[in-house]
Formats: sequence, structure tokens, C-alpha cells
Amino acid sequence: MRCAYCGCVQSRVVDSRQNEEGTSIRRRRECENCGRRFTTYERVELVPLMIVKKDQTREAFDVEKLRSSIVKSCEKRTVSLGKIDALVREIEQKLNSMGESEIPSKVVGELVMDGLKTLDEVAYVRFASVYRQFRDIQTFRDELNKLLADFDKGTADGNDAAR
Ligand SMILES: [Zn+2]
Repeated sequence: MRCAYCGCVQSRVVDSRQNEEGTSIRRRRECENCGRRFTTYERVELVPLMIVKKDQTREAFDVEKLRSSIVKSCEKRTVSLGKIDALVREIEQKLNSMGESEIPSKVVGELVMDGLKTLDEVAYVRFASVYRQFRDIQTFRDELNKLLADFDKGTADGNDAAR
């Protein structure tokens, strides 16, 4: 870190402390050239995550919007809010760990569908039908058949394991 007084790039840290919330670290540095002290702060860089929609428009990622769309899909089902919140956190973490500043809405949709598939089939089909905007009954039927095939496979595997 370049010294604010003489421009020398060599400095040593003489004190380092975290703020109360643990969101930043303040460091007192001493310039190795002129001996003067200055302060630097270190924080996690929060890059706003942008979602690229089908029509190529961008929208800031909104975790509340994600949560409410999942809650809606789980209406009158037996999925607890705790499980929904866990799924939302998991999706948010996955998105952040991609290290991208722009993510296609498709990726978010797939993550939600993957998560819902394991939580509740009805919620999954509800979400998928809105998300994939089934154009007609045939696309809906195809999706349902795929789901049923997966489900049958899961049951069969379960039986095999039990034997
Ligand atoms: Zn200096």
C-alpha cells in the first residue's frame, strides 16, 4: 500500500483490528521510508449480482423476490419455512460462489427447480409451470412425464437398495 505522504510502497502493519460487526479490518501502517503512519481498511467486496433475463434486460438479484416465488410454489404444501429459507440461502450461496457479476435468470430457475424437486414434487411442478411458461398442455405433459420417470427411477433404486 503506497504511503500517503512519500509514495513509498513499503509499509509495515503496526496495528490491526476488526470492527464490532466483523465486516471490516482497520490497519495502522508505518511507512518504511518516512516512518509516518496511515490507516487502511479491508472489506469484503460486495459485487451487486445482476440477473440477465430472457429478453437480455438486467435486474439486480433480489433475494426476497426469490424467496416469495418459492413460498408461493409451496403454498398449502407441507414444506416448512425453515426448509424454504435453507433453500434460499443455498441458492444465494451458489450464485455468489460462481464469482460472476451477471447470471442468466435460467441458471437461477434451474437451481430453484433442483431444490424444489427434492423438497416437494407439487411445489416443483407449480414453479416449473410458471417458470417455463408451458405454452400448451403438451409441454406441461412432457415435463410431468420427465418428473414421473425420475420419480419412478428413484423408487426403483430405493427398492434395489432395500433388497
Ligand atoms: Zn512514507
